[in-house]
Amino acid sequence: MNVNEQRVVLKFGGTSVGSSTNMAKAIDKIIKAKEEYDEVVVVLSAISGVTNLLLYAGRSALYKRPKDTLLQLKEKHYEACDVIPDTKLKMQTILEIDEMLMELEKILTGVFYVGEVTPRSLDHIVSFGERLSTLIVARGLKARGVKSDNIDAAEVVVTDAAFMNATVDFEKTEERAREKIEPLLKQGIIPIITGFIGASANGQRTTLGRGGSDYSAAIFGDVLHSKEVWIMTDVDGVMSCDPRLVEDAYLLDELSYLEAMELAYFGAKVIHPKTLEAAKRKKIPILIKNTFSDSPGTLIRAAREGERKVVKSISIFKDASIVEIKGYGIGKAARVMKEIFHSMEEGQINVMMVTQGSSQANVSFVVPSDDVKTVKKLLLRQYYERFNVIDGISVVSIVGEGMSETAGMAARFFKAVAAQGVNNMMISQGSSEVSINVAILEDDMQSAVTALHDEFLSPSKRASA
Ligand code: ASP
Ligand code: MG
Repeated sequence: MNVNEQRVVLKFGGTSVGSSTNMAKAIDKIIKAKEEYDEVVVVLSAISGVTNLLLYAGRSALYKRPKDTLLQLKEKHYEACDVIPDTKLKMQTILEIDEMLMELEKILTGVFYVGEVTPRSLDHIVSFGERLSTLIVARGLKARGVKSDNIDAAEVVVTDAAFMNATVDFEKTEERAREKIEPLLKQGIIPIITGFIGASANGQRTTLGRGGSDYSAAIFGDVLHSKEVWIMTDVDGVMSCDPRLVEDAYLLDELSYLEAMELAYFGAKVIHPKTLEAAKRKKIPILIKNTFSDSPGTLIRAAREGERKVVKSISIFKDASIVEIKGYGIGKAARVMKEIFHSMEEGQINVMMVTQGSSQANVSFVVPSDDVKTVKKLLLRQYYERFNVIDGISVVSIVGEGMSETAGMAARFFKAVAAQGVNNMMISQGSSEVSINVAILEDDMQSAVTALHDEFLSPSKRASA
């Protein structure tokens, strides 16, 4: 099926709907997009902090009444209603919010009496966040004379029954989107759809994992064959490096899917990695833009042929640890590796780098420090005498497609780092050859990052890199 050139999906994150003032800015952007495109689809996150509150309410409902949390939820959503300038419409919306929160209270009371909270019930509980934010924004638009309708994605996004981290059935979702969303678009109505949410084939509510609204946006971009997906956030786009670390960091106008994935994997918090996988299926371009500025943003799409610049960005993953398993005996490498990585999968640990020194039978890998406790639980008993952890590690990566075709990149990388007297604790080249990564001590991070930005990305070298 062809791309709909006149259709665009806009997704707003938690901060962009975080208060009545911010929602008003989001609404301005929606109206502006509608001037540019005939058909606009909006996907929203919950108000910032609300998903956490709901999860807390669900879990703590086991042993206490959730009065305080419900009150906090009420306050946040009442405040947001200030985005609705029409008094009658505003009152009506507040009544609907009350009704929804009453329903939530009943569910939480149920958890208390049953004495059990399952992933399935948690998914039902967190769904209120996006259902509330979409209601308010749809009313805000209506009050400004824009035709819009809030949609619960549980009616559209079909998933498996893996609660809290469901996988989408694109075919079934496309059918539903054709039935439920397309007719609205044809009438010029802007659907305001809950991000993050889906439902299993038999109608049980599911969610797509934390931060999943980005993913929802890519799903709708796909099934609705939209021209682009805009991720509206609170930064201007993707930078060449964290501007707090490097003064002359600049906004990137373009990235390939692979580069963006690699950046997301190594710590850039701009976009949820699953989003990029979904967008890649039909090569739908993703534009990362700021709700609060007029910055042109960063466009993520399939790499163009003949593009020369090989290094695009530097990413930094802080608060990491190196785990070493030492001297397990020659000839046992394969088994030890299997055991280790099986355990890491079991603990859902994000292993960022791995090296194996075969002569001494050592294996080292880098994980987020937050996960070290779990890693210990899984491996310490078996490898007690061979187990060592080095904390205070940062992983610094340069990312750019085409690095594999360019000779001497690794040499330049390590020379720049070494010139600062920085000791490499561990090195790797991304298997996709889109990145080169080094694990160093946190204290060395600033000087390594500055040197690498100078070497590969400083304005004077950008032309030749
Ligand atoms: N509200 C969900 C979360 O906080 C989804 C999202 O914001 O993307 O995880
Ligand atoms: Mg979010």
